[in-house]
Amino acid sequence: ATDSRDPDCLFCRIVAGEIPSERVHEDDQVIAFKDLHPQAAVHVLVVPREHRRDVRELAERPELLGHVASVAGDIASDLGDGDFRLIFNTGESAGQTVFHVHAHVLAGGPLAEGEM
Ligand code: 5GP
Ligand code: ZN
Repeated sequence: ATDSRDPDCLFCRIVAGEIPSERVHEDDQVIAFKDLHPQAAVHVLVVPREHRRDVRELAERPELLGHVASVAGDIASDLGDGDFRLIFNTGESAGQTVFHVHAHVLAGGPLAEGEM
């Protein structure tokens, strides 16, 4: 059930190309695109093509979770100086608003402690 496409899911629609996004990476497992409301000079979301709710469900596939982290590092090197912060907001009270797992990659300059 976790690997099926959800027609009501915003990020499933972005993966399908039904909603435009500024992609910076794509492969057979993930896409990565610029966040609509950037919180850093580089703010990219790495999104598995497969619909999974959050990082807990993503961790059921360790290889895919590892690939997300690896792509995040490549993006930080390509678009920033290589340093980056990787964030998975998980659950409403942690600030998750889109329930299709995504890793926030923040890079491209000094990042304040506690800053998103
Ligand atoms: P969350 O709050 O779930 O961790 O992160 C969701 C992120 O998705 C937010 O940073 C928000 O700015 C971004 N976002 C929401 N809708 C869109 C969209 O349609 N396109 C893009 N590129 N980013 C979006
Ligand atoms: Zn989805």
